[in-house]
Amino acid sequence: MFVFTHQNLMNGIFDHAIARRNGNQYFLVLSRVYGLAPYREISHLNVSTPQSSTPLPLSNEGRPCIWLDCSTDRSDFIPLQNPSIVTALLNAQPKPIIKLCGLTRRISPPTGTDRYSKSEEIEVEKVELLLSEDELVHSCYYCGELEMDGSEHFERIGGKGYNSTYGCAECMSTPWISRAVFEVAKCWDNKQ
Ligand SMILES: [Zn+2]
Repeated sequence: MFVFTHQNLMNGIFDHAIARRNGNQYFLVLSRVYGLAPYREISHLNVSTPQSSTPLPLSNEGRPCIWLDCSTDRSDFIPLQNPSIVTALLNAQPKPIIKLCGLTRRISPPTGTDRYSKSEEIEVEKVELLLSEDELVHSCYYCGELEMDGSEHFERIGGKGYNSTYGCAECMSTPWISRAVFEVAKCWDNKQ
């Protein structure tokens, strides 16, 4: 994983990284657990992108482009606002994490959600993520656990490039039949 900081992100004290979950959902996360708090997720970066196993469109350089619609920008409770995240990701140290595509759009969160207090349209930027698949934090296909900075990488179990899937050591050590049952249940859920 690629670890970065910026003063807009918790005063630059903690290391951050970008995680990908459920195919095409991107998150700003802490690179590891700090102190006793297990909480690592800072902001869902593309809340208005429907969750899908279909890969996102890639830039000419072959990197994913997302509408930067941050969950923190839609919350009345968290003081970290979208401009802070855009600035932080553009000027992160030791290298930028995103590049602006020069496109903006007014956008609403997914229909039916009540997670976000600001459910009205807001203007968001289209951005290109400058990280390779190997520089992202990978999530476990089975339990959703995230890779931790300094720990072993999860095993790749399917897909390719930015559509790869991974399994954590704990889940991969369970009998294959348990994983097969999980797979069937997940496919069933997706069809409901
Ligand atoms: Zn797992």
